[in-house]
Amino acid sequence: DIKDHIGEIRAEFPILKRTMSDHPLVYLDNCATTLKPRSVIDTVVHYYTYLGANAHRGDYEMSAQVDFAYEGARKLTKDFIHAAKKEEIVFTSGTTESLNILAMSITNTWLQEGDVVLSTVAEHASSVLPWLEAGESKGIKVEYIPLDEKGRITVENFKKALHPKVKVVCFAQVSNVLGYEAPVKEIVKIAHENGIKVVVDGAQSIAHLPVDVQDLDVDFFCFSAHKMCGPTGIGVLYGKLEYLDALSPIYFGGESNARFSKCGKLKLKKTPFKYESGTQPIEGALGMAAAMKFVDKIGKENVHRYELELKHYFLEKIKDVDNVKVYNADAKSGIITFNVYDKGELIFPQDVASFLNTKGIAVRSGEHCAKLLGEVLGVPGTCRASVYFYNTFEEIDKFVLALKEASFETCLDIFF
Ligand code: PMP
Repeated sequence: DIKDHIGEIRAEFPILKRTMSDHPLVYLDNCATTLKPRSVIDTVVHYYTYLGANAHRGDYEMSAQVDFAYEGARKLTKDFIHAAKKEEIVFTSGTTESLNILAMSITNTWLQEGDVVLSTVAEHASSVLPWLEAGESKGIKVEYIPLDEKGRITVENFKKALHPKVKVVCFAQVSNVLGYEAPVKEIVKIAHENGIKVVVDGAQSIAHLPVDVQDLDVDFFCFSAHKMCGPTGIGVLYGKLEYLDALSPIYFGGESNARFSKCGKLKLKKTPFKYESGTQPIEGALGMAAAMKFVDKIGKENVHRYELELKHYFLEKIKDVDNVKVYNADAKSGIITFNVYDKGELIFPQDVASFLNTKGIAVRSGEHCAKLLGEVLGVPGTCRASVYFYNTFEEIDKFVLALKEASFETCLDIFF
């Protein structure tokens, strides 16, 4: 049980000793990025201190040690998401790059004029814009699966959005705005029955839920290490090997080609190396592997259960506080999307976040990179608190206390 070990767990995160606005830091912005434990920091430092060489380039002992560690990180990633083969793991700079590679490559290779990519209005910009951009010149459209009244993607609505021109569906396993989990397995099954490829944005699920890409049967799955205690600048593009083999990379350069001639005839290396042109974030891959070990040690089932306990504790405490409206009380994730009102009038979410900052509390405010969702919620933005396994019930107490104090007077007072 995480509760019984919270002191030990927090001791692994050096940053939790810092203050913000002269208060102990209460970090509730884990959707944006997570904090890093000592083992991840040490792994990155170890690479620079003792390994140093490039990967897959040298013929000397130190570079062989890097190759060994780098490919070890790939094998660990394969196990972490239960992929069938380690070649199915492509290292990228993160979810955004993974999704861009897929949108461009799939559009170039598989899509024809008039084809349709399905998305939803709750998707992160990184999951919609690449398809809009890649498809524009080729006449490929993005259509949106209607959400239900709570802002969720449902199997019924997915079925209704289907027609013969739909070739790809791309959506988040867990929404970064509302925290609802999509029925991935059911959608995948129906998509495959209709010859549709499924791209899943795992940015908000990877750190919090057990992910088994074979069980889900997704064709592609993308995530970033930094949302899972790992370094920034590294992430993963998982794809079924036959599809990664069939698609082409969008970057070309060193180490992705087996040979090329002066007239431009190019022979690419095998998957995954054909997708990894140029020097990779080696320390990032090693740090990501350390993060996976750390999260696995705590156990994602435990993480998920604990996050829900924190969220329910918050909801219980906030029940009688009339000025706070929570939009996603029933979402089974540690994401709390809310707004604060004063006598029925919305306090601008950024002002609430700035007020919370004065108490040492970090939350996100705004549109959370899902600009289209505002239409569903009917508000120009929200505040978002998102917990992780190192947060505590005492921190929730502080958060609730601060929210009780939030009003036009207190929130705007900080600017004068
Ligand atoms: N998709 C979702 C659902 C996200 O929450 C995020 C990060 N906020 C991204 C994609 C983009 O991730 P990154 O910035 O690490 O590329």
